[in-house]
Formats: sequence, structure tokens, C-alpha cells
Amino acid sequence: MPILTSSSPSLADLINQVLPQTQCTKCGYQGCRPYAEAIAGGEAINRCPPGGPQTVTLLSGLTGRPAQALNPDIGEHTPLKLAVIREDDCIGCTKCIQACPVDAIVGAAKRMHTVIASECTGCDLCVEPCPVDCIDMITIGSDIAPPSREQANHWQMRYEYRESRLQREAKEQQQRRLIKLESKLGALDRGESIQKASTATAQSPEQMRSYIEAAVARTQARKAALRASDSSAGSNAHAAPQADSGGNGNEQG
Ligand code: SF4
Ligand code: SF4
Ligand code: SF4
Repeated sequence: MPILTSSSPSLADLINQVLPQTQCTKCGYQGCRPYAEAIAGGEAINRCPPGGPQTVTLLSGLTGRPAQALNPDIGEHTPLKLAVIREDDCIGCTKCIQACPVDAIVGAAKRMHTVIASECTGCDLCVEPCPVDCIDMITIGSDIAPPSREQANHWQMRYEYRESRLQREAKEQQQRRLIKLESKLGALDRGESIQKASTATAQSPEQMRSYIEAAVARTQARKAALRASDSSAGSNAHAAPQADSGGNGNEQG
């Protein structure tokens, strides 16, 4: 029995090392590693069609569980396949590149895309997203066997490289968003400072004095107008009785 140390591989590591690494997700997990972890946690060992019966046997040995037939509801074990793009029909939308778990497709936006045959795992994840249905899966082998360990290790390396690239890009995108947000917040802060500065200017002693002087001048002008109006009304009050008495005299006369 092997002696396990802190640097020994975990059961999930060992299980991952016998899975075919096509990253096809047919097992119901987002790749071989997540399925390996699920098996270590008790998931069934017969859910990997690319691995077929040979892989189930290896998993049985690792987990100590009885070997089972491949679950027919998941899919059947078939010879390896390869994706081929009908390049004349390709519109260069890049959807297949985004779907490929091992970066086996090359091409730029609005340009023809091509599968690098030596890197394709045959997972068929690029087929469904293609809007013009120009990707064919062709069978490349006659014997039904899981991919060689060397081939699987190579795919695993490409998958892990892609995963770390995607994580790095997501982090960089998040940092760019943060910088943009900080720049916007900075602009808002500067706007607030300008507003505060203009409020401060409006309340400076000179401004206040001008404001008070203008208000005093307006009040004085209003008072002067009122006085003028009062004196005019007083003159009219003296004149009115004379007119009245005159009128009355005329009536009496
Ligand atoms: S090869 Fe496909 S089905 Fe098998 S473990 Fe990997 S992702 Fe799952
Ligand atoms: S090219 Fe298609 S079939 Fe081949 S690995 Fe990429 S996604 Fe899978
Ligand atoms: S998804 Fe189809 S159309 Fe779009 S780039 Fe890939 S092969 Fe071309």
C-alpha cells in the first residue's frame, strides 16, 4: 500500500490521470477534472463515453467500486473524431473558437477558420454554436479505444493552459473596468470640487458685499417710490374737497 504524504496526489488527481481529457462535457461536468472530483466524491464511474469500458475498469481499480457498463443514457463509446470546417461556408463569427476547450481552432473575426487537426480532441463542442452549420465531425480511426495517455496528457496541458489564459484575461478585463470606474469617479469628484469652489466664490466677502449693497439699493429705491406715491396721494386728498365743495356750491346755487 502506498504511503500518502501531503505532496501525494489526491484521489481526484489520480482519477483525472485516467480520464481521456477530451473535455467534451458529456459526463455532465464542465470537463474531465470536475468529473474526476465528482467521482472522488461518490459520482458514478460509468459516465465517460470517450473513455469507454477500459476507463471504467481503471476507475473501478482506483475507487474500489465494481466495474459497470457504460451508462447508455450518457452516450456510446465511438472511435475518435475530428472536427473539419467547410471553409467556403465559414463566416468568421469566432463562435467555434470560444467553444473549443483546447484552443484547437484558429482564425480571426470575419475570416475563415480552421481546425488544427493535431490538437482537436473530437469533443464536438464547436458544432452546435456554429450559426451556418459548417463544421463536420469525421471519424478518424476504426478501433474503439480511449485516446493514448500521451495524447490525453497533451490535451490536458492545452486545456489547463486555456483555463489559466481565460482566468488571466477575465482578471485583466476586471482591472480595466476598475480603472475606468475609478477614472469616472475621479471625474465626478473633480466636478464636485468645481461646484464647491463656485459655491465658495459666490459666498466670498466681495460677493456678499455686492449682494447686500444691491439689496440695500433696491430697498432704498422701493422706499423712495413709496414716499413719492404717498405725497402724490396727499396732494390729491387736499384737492378733492375743494372740488367737492365747488360741486356742492354749484348744486346749491
Ligand atoms: S472525456 Fe468528456 S465525458 Fe469523459 S470525463 Fe472528460 S469531459 Fe467527461
Ligand atoms: S475543434 Fe471542435 S471538436 Fe475539436 S477540440 Fe475544438 S471544439 Fe472540440
Ligand atoms: S462558428 Fe462556424 S461560421 Fe463561425 S467562425 Fe466557426 S466555423 Fe466559421
